[in-house]
Parts: sequence; structure tokens; C-alpha cells
Amino acid sequence: MDYVVEQEKKIPVKSYDVVVVGGGTTGVVAALASARNGAKTALIEAKGYPGGIIVEGGTALHSFYNMWKAFPGVEKRQVIKGIPQEIIDRLMVYGGCSGHAEMLKGYDYDSVCTAIDTEIYKLVAFEMLEESGVDLFMNTLLTSAINEGGKITGIITESRSGREIFKAKCFIDSTGYGDVCALAGAQFTEINDHPVVNSMGVGGVSIEGFMAYGKEHGLLNQYSNGIRSGEPDQLVRVDLSSSKLPEALRREVKDMGLALVVTSVHDDYFMFVKINYKMDVNPTDRNAVTKAEIELRKRQRKAIEFIRKHIPGCEKAFIARTSPTLTIRRARCIKCDYDVTLDDIVEARHFDDDVFVYSFHDCGAKYQVKNGGTYGMPYKALCVSGIDNLYATGMMITSSWEAHMSTRNTVSCMAQGQAAGTAAALCSKEEMGIRALPYNVLRDVLVKDGVYFEEDK
Ligand SMILES: Cc1cc2nc3c(=O)[nH]c(=O)nc-3n(C[C@H](O)[C@H](O)[C@H](O)COP(=O)(O)OP(=O)(O)OC[C@H]3O[C@@H](n4cnc5c(N)ncnc54)[C@H](O)[C@@H]3O)c2cc1C
Repeated sequence: MDYVVEQEKKIPVKSYDVVVVGGGTTGVVAALASARNGAKTALIEAKGYPGGIIVEGGTALHSFYNMWKAFPGVEKRQVIKGIPQEIIDRLMVYGGCSGHAEMLKGYDYDSVCTAIDTEIYKLVAFEMLEESGVDLFMNTLLTSAINEGGKITGIITESRSGREIFKAKCFIDSTGYGDVCALAGAQFTEINDHPVVNSMGVGGVSIEGFMAYGKEHGLLNQYSNGIRSGEPDQLVRVDLSSSKLPEALRREVKDMGLALVVTSVHDDYFMFVKINYKMDVNPTDRNAVTKAEIELRKRQRKAIEFIRKHIPGCEKAFIARTSPTLTIRRARCIKCDYDVTLDDIVEARHFDDDVFVYSFHDCGAKYQVKNGGTYGMPYKALCVSGIDNLYATGMMITSSWEAHMSTRNTVSCMAQGQAAGTAAALCSKEEMGIRALPYNVLRDVLVKDGVYFEEDK
């Protein structure tokens, strides 16, 4: 391969207490928590809007509640509150959320469905970030990190305003891909254990028709009623099992990677229809991703044809929105001081350094937190091994596939964001490394800011 050595050049420096890289599911909440706790905070995001996969891929936000419906007699409790719930509250005011719609069938998977309007979410997140005094750098790509003796002293970004260095006392990697960690020399693995996806918003459809199709073929796994187009008690989620379809149709659905799960907060619109594609290599491979982007768009066309042909009330279905790039369920897995295990989750373990509690597992029929309870997310699971001022958050933590199927979900990611953002603000204030932060100090601030813990459960 031919190489060129870049010329040296002076780069302008911006200085912050805390820099959050990645304004997605996790990073929005991390930046809010950091700024609200007094840190001068920058949020750097490659795209022109906040939200990441919460607005590009996921069908509903799993999950703010414990699994009370799967464990009769267990008390119903909301286990994630704080900033994630504040976002929901504002979405509700703007008519952009189904509410925490109770599952009426299939509650071994989840007790509620919380579906959001992805476009309203973008505005809500922008407003909250502005109000909290976060400095926003949109359309800005992280390209490098400077690690001096186990401490990040700066990160380098590119945008149409040129190359810049952001210095800070503490950094949070919320890029999903673990870009800050990898560029700073942290240890990671690339597991490639999930398909990549491009989820489309589909207009000209009927969720009642989708439900009728499921009932007719005996495919119905799950449904819930919530607020849709401003009306309460409407269908907002229907989940069908393609495995029970006649063989030819089942194969067709499988080959195009179509997931028969829809959610909506508006009439005549499916917020997300997922199209999956399993790549041979990890989605950090640019050339392979290019091919996958093309393949996913071909599959989307086939899926629309399938929906028009087979689902009643969807004869005029059309693609109203697609994700600007394919989305991933994980790329790099970053080595942190603790790696949450499936046993921790199903045994409902709590740690001396819990930063929030959580209850949802994405394979609910197989794995559930014991007795409809919660497990704790330990602070050390967010601390990047070998680096003194960097947190990893979101889908990049937790190596085992089974445990990741819990920790990667949106509501856990949001809670991780609040924990890391709060901790980063406290560390930067006291000019201390992340491992020197006294747990009781962090816990007190999290409680003050509405994070739920359940001492007696
Ligand atoms: C198709 C799909 C469906 C899913 N369905 C559900 C579901 O129904 N319910 C659920 O709870 N969970 C679901 N999940 C899981 C969940 O949505 C994700 O795990 C979670 O949203 C990940 O959040 P994150 O903050 O880690 O990453 P993201 O939300 O992806 O945020 C990362 C952000 O970082 C930015 N970024 C990346 N690299 C850089 C860089 N170098 N410089 C600057 N910015 C950068 C990105 O643009 C993005 O905005 C789904 C995931 C996928 C892919």
C-alpha cells in the first residue's frame, strides 16, 4: 500500500471539564447529567441531530419497569426514573409518546411498551441540552484521541469548521462503536454476534390490519394499547412470530431479514420496521459496511412489497423514513473494570457501587431477573480499564451475548448516561481520577437527581 505522511499543522484548542463523544441514546443523557451538575460540558455528535439508535432503530424503549406482569403478586415499580423519565415526560407533553403502555399479551417479554415519535425526540433532546447549558457540536466527527500515561489529554475532531482539539478533565465514550476508547488505546474485542439493521418508518399502513394478520395465522406474540394520535387505549405495539408462518412465507421473511414487530404513536404509520442482515465481518469494516448498506436497501424494497401484498390495510404502504446509515447492535466491546454477567442479571445481584437498577432482558421468555426484581449496574462496569479519566457507556460494555442482551437496551443505556455524566462532573470538579471518586458522594447526587434504588427489595 502507498502511504503519505501528513504535514504538521497547528490545531485550535477548546477546553472543557467534561467532553461527551456521541450524542445518541446514552450521550444525550450523559451530557445533561454532566452539565446540570455544574461541569462545563461539550457534546460532540457526528450527525445533525441527537438520539442515535433511539431514533433510528429501536422499536420501543425497554424498559422503565420491573417485570411485575410475568411474576404475579410482585409489586409493580418503575425502576428507571431520573433524566430518562424527564425525556418521556416532555415527549408526552408534545404528543410524542405512547406512554408506558401496559403489555396485554406477551408480558414474559416486557411489562410495558414505551414507544416514541422519533422526530419529536430530536427536538426534545435539543431543547433539554440547550436549557442545561451543554455546548453542542453537531456534524462533528471524532477522529483521534491523545492518551498520555493512561490519561486522555485531548481528542481530535473534524468538521466543516476544520480540525479541532477538545481538552477536558474527563471524557465519556458514548459513540456506540467505542471510538474514543479504541483511539485512546483501550483494550477491546470485536465479536460480530448480531445482524446489522436499517429500520424504516412505513406510512400508509394499519396496525389493526397487522394484528388481524397475526391472529389469522396464529402468530401473535405480544401487543399493547397506549396513546396513538392523541387517543388513549389504541394499539401501539404488535409483535408477530414469523416462525409459525407457512413454510414458503416464513423463508421469504427470513431471507429478507424482516422482523414482524411494529410500534406506533400515530395512525397509519409504523415507526420502525426492522430489516436485518448478518455481515461476515464486524461492522467496523468500512468496505463490508458499504456492501451491507446496499443490500439493506434492496431488502427494504422487498419487505415493502411483502407488506403490501400480505397485510390487510397495508396495500398502499410506502417507505416514509429510513435510517441515514445502518445501525448496529454492537461493534467493539470495551474492556472495563467489571464485566456484567448473565448470572449477575438473572440472580438479581446488586453491588457495593450500584449506579442504577434495571430489570429488562431482551430474551424475556428464556432469561428473566429473579422474582421480577432488579439487578444493579456497578460503577466499575463503566470505567475503562487502564485509563484514568474515561467512561465507556451504552452498547459497547458487557462481553457476553446473553448479558449484553440486557445492558444494551435503550433504557439501561440512558441510565448509564446519567451515571457516567454525573460521575464525570464530580471527578472534574475535584480534579480526581475516576477510580478516586467516593461512591457515597456519587450515590447521593444520583438520588438527588431522581435515580431510583431499591434498598429493601
Ligand atoms: C435495529 C435495532 C433495534 C433495536 N431495538 C431496540 C428496542 O426495541 N428497544 C430497546 O430498548 N433497544 C433496542 N435496541 C438496542 C438499543 O437501541 C441500542 O443498544 C442503544 O440505543 C445504543 O445506544 P448507544 O448510546 O450505545 O449508541 P447510539 O444510540 O448509536 O449512539 C451513538 C452516537 O454516537 C455517534 N457517533 C458514533 N461515532 C462517532 C464519532 N466517531 N464521532 C462523533 N459521533 C459519533 C452516533 O452518530 C450516534 O449518535 C436496538 C438496536 C438496534 C440496532
